[in-house]
Amino acid sequence: MDVPLYLRPRVEPPLASLLGAAPFLHSLVDALGSPLNVLLLETVAENAARFRAVYRRHRLTGRIYFAHKANRSSALVRRLAAEDPAAVGIDVASLEELRHALGCGFTGDRVMATGPKDAEFLWLAARVGATVNLDSPGELDRLAGLVRGHGLGRVRVLARLSGFESADGKNGAGTRLLSRRSRFGTPVRDADALWAALERHADAVELVGLAYHLDTTGLEEKARALEQCVLLMDACRRRGLAPRAVDIGGGFGVGYVADAGEWQRWTTALSEAVLGGRPPLTWRGHGYGLRNEGGTVRGTMALYPGHRPHAGPGYLDELLSLPAPVLGREPGTLLLEHLHDLHIEPGRSLVDQCGLSLARVLDVRSTGEEPGAHLVRLGMNAGDVSLEEHGVLMDPVLLPRGDARQDDGREGGEGAGAPVGVHLVGNLCLEADLITRRLVFLPRLPRAGDVLAFVNTAGYAMDFHAHQAQRQPSARTVAVEREGDSWRWCPDEDYWPITHPGGTPA
Ligand SMILES: *Cc1c(COP(=O)(O)O)cnc(C)c1O
Repeated sequence: MDVPLYLRPRVEPPLASLLGAAPFLHSLVDALGSPLNVLLLETVAENAARFRAVYRRHRLTGRIYFAHKANRSSALVRRLAAEDPAAVGIDVASLEELRHALGCGFTGDRVMATGPKDAEFLWLAARVGATVNLDSPGELDRLAGLVRGHGLGRVRVLARLSGFESADGKNGAGTRLLSRRSRFGTPVRDADALWAALERHADAVELVGLAYHLDTTGLEEKARALEQCVLLMDACRRRGLAPRAVDIGGGFGVGYVADAGEWQRWTTALSEAVLGGRPPLTWRGHGYGLRNEGGTVRGTMALYPGHRPHAGPGYLDELLSLPAPVLGREPGTLLLEHLHDLHIEPGRSLVDQCGLSLARVLDVRSTGEEPGAHLVRLGMNAGDVSLEEHGVLMDPVLLPRGDARQDDGREGGEGAGAPVGVHLVGNLCLEADLITRRLVFLPRLPRAGDVLAFVNTAGYAMDFHAHQAQRQPSARTVAVEREGDSWRWCPDEDYWPITHPGGTPA
């Protein structure tokens, strides 16, 4: 076999020490079954504090709204509810998420309701005093109707915009689209009609700010949208509306792979494999969007950028420091000068390093096709750890059962202590149930009874696509906290951020 093409995950302190507690993790899987999700609550609070530090550096005010859709956990939402109400809120995108947030301790004034909303969702959001992030002019009409019809108080709203254009006219060709089209929000070209509707509904709603959420990693695109919002807010004020906040959505990202070189080597090798210059790196030569056209690689790699120099709070800092194209000021300065609050809605990045998905190794066998490659069947399926679905590639961490060193001494030859390439397959009778289509390199061949830990899965990977096909159990989720040198755990739904006398959480 060639040099192993590892994509080892980035693992930081509390998560690293949890991974070091292999007997504890094994005992959890023994007791609660495979798959199993584990959440580290101290980390979500630390991540919020890191975002706050960026606000302070730029002397900005405003709130961090956790995008609930990234994870279903109650413990995470309760832990965040315990944070400073002025600093941390929650972004809910469905009636059930709103009910959940309220039940976890968020008061209505800390809630941002986003996404397209039905009447029930709008009513409850209005009733509890949430801020409604308006998806369309039609939604505004429906909300205003509910407020009047039910005698509700005036509702704070943000206008979500999309389709940002530049009208700088440099090339005389009129407008230029700055961000790709979105299904959500009101296109900027229709903004005038939206302002008119907001004026018409002024008895029912109060415009408190403008918003966007761009599903891109591009800093430039986001800086331009932010600047456009500041300009549009000036236009609003000229009409007598008084927006004070810009909500720049989420998408601050996570760096999953620890080493830039490993990411570089793997992606280069993928291109070589697609051209036939080396053995396939994937199940049946899957190209992740790349293809061979007459000896040239074509297409774009449909993968999450595994190694990222700036992610999460660092990415926000970069964005706020970038010179803005039209006004020539950094977005941070622009917001400060206009005395606007900055709201953000991080999902993935707020739960960075907060979660693990554990799976027991059920069985290991040779593929019979590729020399040296093995099939490792896990007690989980692709829905339980949907990294592949989101284009996130990284190696699981092998947690051997018992003492691995002793085992390695006992069995010689291939597989005992040597790196191997394996295909990770799931527990469904479905050819397509691969945990990843990538050939995964592990430091040694796993055995039945070992546990594989998928790291950093709290954002979208652990429960977003979980299902109960074939009546396979879906993962339970547990919350863990450090207690001296050891760990304690409780079911996710039983966690409350309370310290009881004696210092142990409930
Ligand atoms: C999904 C979503 C987010 C969170 O995005 P991340 O990439 O997880 O940070 C924030 N706001 C809105 C409106 C969303 O739809």
